[in-house]
Amino acid sequence: MTTRTVTTATLQDWIARFAAAVAEKREWLTELDSAIGDADHGANMARGMTAVTEKLGAGAPGTVDELLKTVGMTLVSSVGGASGPLYGTFFLRTGMTAGAVTELDAGALAAALRAGLDGIVARGKAEAGDKTLFDAMSPAVDAFDAALADDADLIAAAQAAAEAAARGRDATLPLVARKGRASYLGERSAGHLDPGAASTTLLFEALAAAIAEA
Ligand code: ADP
Ligand code: MG
Repeated sequence: MTTRTVTTATLQDWIARFAAAVAEKREWLTELDSAIGDADHGANMARGMTAVTEKLGAGAPGTVDELLKTVGMTLVSSVGGASGPLYGTFFLRTGMTAGAVTELDAGALAAALRAGLDGIVARGKAEAGDKTLFDAMSPAVDAFDAALADDADLIAAAQAAAEAAARGRDATLPLVARKGRASYLGERSAGHLDPGAASTTLLFEALAAAIAEA
């Protein structure tokens, strides 16, 4: 079977899977942030996604923009660290670009994810190699586009995006941070994975799983 569209329900499942992954990997995310930051990335993401889960409740899925704007606004208002406004902006822009629809085709989902990434850049000014979540998200969005250009279906494209995110996360290991709290450490930030790149990989793995099992 080839999958060519995602519904609001599939995207709601994406959010639920991301919340579950963040809860499960909370200690690991905090450990990563304790090496090059202030040891709160796991707590920040878990607090934010718990608030999102409570906000969404068991409500029936509405439109894609309603869903993702709720996620974004909840993250912005419940997370104090840098990651709250960054992930919040990602979901707000993704939702805004998707619009008031209940289904997205592959091209529309690709455009929405690209807009989310652009929102993060507009907000945090990260560039490739700065050792931030951009280093996982940008290759993920590029891989998603490349797979679709290659006529892959959505399952394969989302899987390619998740794999690219993981490679991007791993490639942050030797980098010296140039943005965020880790940049205060200068050269001492090298030799550690970026926590935000780790959580962003969970985000794309959750998307791939939600689409594959829809
Ligand atoms: P804080 O740094 O305020 O403690 P978190 O620990 O929750 O917030 O999040 C840290 C992560 O945020 C970093 O690992 C990095 O990936 C990401 N980050 C920080 N600043 C930026 C930025 N300007 N652009 C993109 N991502 C950033
Ligand atoms: Mg932190």
